[in-house]
Amino acid sequence: MESTDAVSLEAVRKTYGKDGAAVEALAGVTIGFRRGTMTAIMGPSGSGKSTFLHCAAGLDRPTSGSVTLDGREITAMKEKALTRLRRQRIGFVFQGFNLLPTLTVQQNITLPLRLAGRRADHTLVTQVIARVGLTTRTHHLPGELSGGQQQRVAIARALITQPAVTFADEPTGALDTRTALEVLALMREMVRDAGQTIVMVTHDPVAASHADRVVFLADGKLVDQLDQPGADAIAKRMTHLGAWGRS
Ligand code: ADP
Ligand code: MG
Repeated sequence: MESTDAVSLEAVRKTYGKDGAAVEALAGVTIGFRRGTMTAIMGPSGSGKSTFLHCAAGLDRPTSGSVTLDGREITAMKEKALTRLRRQRIGFVFQGFNLLPTLTVQQNITLPLRLAGRRADHTLVTQVIARVGLTTRTHHLPGELSGGQQQRVAIARALITQPAVTFADEPTGALDTRTALEVLALMREMVRDAGQTIVMVTHDPVAASHADRVVFLADGKLVDQLDQPGADAIAKRMTHLGAWGRS
């Protein structure tokens, strides 16, 4: 692993099921993600994108191979230590926002700090809320916000712990085109201005074109990568990789 990698995977395999029914979801994946970069992971339905994200984020354990996160090899870690590392060093953003409906914007954003037993520094919290443009919504509930605003809460929540890396699974999948672009611009800003590292799974070539690099998975293997590609180049590459669909 290069020392500048926020997270890296070495020969990661993941097999589900046993013997005749075994499915090899990841078939030996080696890749590193440099700090301060945004990467998009693309691939046909069933190509292993979710499995990849779960293994890289320590949510699931590889069958073999190793994952190094923020300088620590996590595959051999005990569950308790891994949970602590996840809470302190990893951010997550999901398609469905996953906000707690009874907590305000501010309470949702500061939840990871409370879970990690850390005090919420008022200045930092105010800054983060301002950064995602929600100052006037600080005490609102998620149900009182638009989809784009809810995803901005989720992004702020992912970034409040200043994680080594943030994993996003289809972060714009539930948003209309204009709102999706706002959220992507915000994610880019976090990378450019705050030095964040983002790894995002997406089906959308336009979303992927906001990344510094796009990597393609097919049948559990990395088959290609493009550096700073446009949406057209991404779409063209996708058509050569087979059956695309939502999953
Ligand atoms: P993607 O996110 O690209 O659609 P996944 O990582 O979800 O792909 O799945 C990759 C392969 O692993 C698929 O063939 C899928 O059916 C299989 N798979 C994923 N999760 C499980 C599981 N929990 N049990 C059995 N098979 C699984
Ligand atoms: Mg998936």
